[in-house]
Amino acid sequence: MIIGAGIAAVYAAESARKAGFDGRIILCGDEGEAPYDRPPLSKKVLQETGEADRISLRDSAFYDAHDIDLRLGNAAQRIDREARQVTFSDGTSLGYGTLVLATGSSLRTLAQLPPEMPRVFYLRRISDAVALRDALPNLRKLVVVGAGVIGLEVAAVANGMGIEVTVLEAGPRPMARATCAEVCEFVVKQHEQRGVRIRTGISIMEVTELPSGYRLGLSGGESIDADAVIVGIGVVPNVSLASSAGLETCASGICVDGQGRTSDEHIYAAGEVAFHFNARMGRAERQENWHHAVAHGEHVGRSIVCGGPDYEEISGYWSDQYDFSLQSFGVSIGERNIVRGDPTAGRFIVFHMEGDVVAGVSSVGAPREMRVGKALVRSAASVPVAVLQDSSIDLAKWQSAVEHSAP
Ligand code: FAD
Ligand code: NDP
Repeated sequence: MIIGAGIAAVYAAESARKAGFDGRIILCGDEGEAPYDRPPLSKKVLQETGEADRISLRDSAFYDAHDIDLRLGNAAQRIDREARQVTFSDGTSLGYGTLVLATGSSLRTLAQLPPEMPRVFYLRRISDAVALRDALPNLRKLVVVGAGVIGLEVAAVANGMGIEVTVLEAGPRPMARATCAEVCEFVVKQHEQRGVRIRTGISIMEVTELPSGYRLGLSGGESIDADAVIVGIGVVPNVSLASSAGLETCASGICVDGQGRTSDEHIYAAGEVAFHFNARMGRAERQENWHHAVAHGEHVGRSIVCGGPDYEEISGYWSDQYDFSLQSFGVSIGERNIVRGDPTAGRFIVFHMEGDVVAGVSSVGAPREMRVGKALVRSAASVPVAVLQDSSIDLAKWQSAVEHSAP
């Protein structure tokens, strides 16, 4: 049985079948919709009517063909580990042989601007995206709280619709968790050139309801009016089902080994909720991106059926804003971040260095360099900074020359 019907869950089910599992698979989700993809929610779904109908992860024929029993709109509430049984919000219970928890994350919320307030938006589920999409055409002034990936993607969409957008970030700079200062500088310029105001080191102290929106009292004493507010201040892993069953959890998620196994050998966790061991990194970590949800879901599904090596995937993310797409692979903030190319022309790559090793790369408008950069990350290559910075040196040729000259 798999609890959660998101990205990791679907890939876990599919890979268990591919690995030869021929028992029963029940996929239980609390949302009413068949499993869907989340990245389009802050992008195309906000811009195109009908797009929300096109983001299903798989069609119904897939579930039939893979003999996956999809049960939706019913939250798992309790795990009885002794009886190996899960109880759901409708009062029913189901037994399991092996259980996978793929419960993802929930949004952090702001006490002064809870999701229940009118004209206050959050973005995690398809229903959130549809509500925001329907509201956007009627807005003149939007405040975005949180300059993370989601806040900035929404800011870009709203700006494209002619809405006056102000972004309020509590921290010292935007995308501080997602990327380095060098990439951040490029992203901020793209927003500011188009008229989006990004304010950092600002908190909301007071919220007053106006007939047509809100007046937000800010730290520093000033205030700002908005027709609506969207809050994107990060997520927390959904661990309560696991922790109340006595499984080992921590603030970073449900603790699992390199196979995805929890402290109970019959229960696994996959995707964004899993604080998982990554053999390549040599430590446990939690990843909040699409690539990891797919790869870890597949890994856990396969490991349950046939064991195999520990998880060692390198993941990354992308973010589409205006006409650029930021791609990131491996660590996204290095001890040093080396820029190659021309950020002012919207074509550059940044190498995130740990010592002299390329531990991650981020790029905009540079697909070929990104391919080479990913190979450097995969091989944990040591490359002199002067070589990385010099755009006249072909990195692929340089790397292959080094490999061929190695004894
Ligand atoms: P989730 O997708 O969160 O799925 C978990 C599911 O389990 C949910 O449906 C949840 O409701 C359900 N559930 C929870 N508790 C229970 C319970 N008790 N019983 C039953 N069901 C339960 N990543 C990128 O790399 N690039 C992007 O551009 C990008 N854009 C994004 C845009 C948005 C708006 C969002 C929200 C995320 C984006 N991501 C992006 C991140 C990526 O989508 C997530 O990392 C991924 O969805 C995690 O997948 P998951 O299956 O682990 O968890
Ligand atoms: P992030 O964690 O990326 O960013 C949230 C930002 O809001 C942080 O800079 C945070 O600062 C700031 N913040 C926190 N509290 C406040 C406050 N009270 N007032 C103002 N700012 C505040 O989360 P997002 O919400 O942007 O994204 C959520 C999830 O989206 C990710 O966790 C991931 O699952 C997913 N994702 C989305 C992608 C995309 O849209 N392209 C790509 C990859 C993942 P601080 O860090 O100091 O708390």
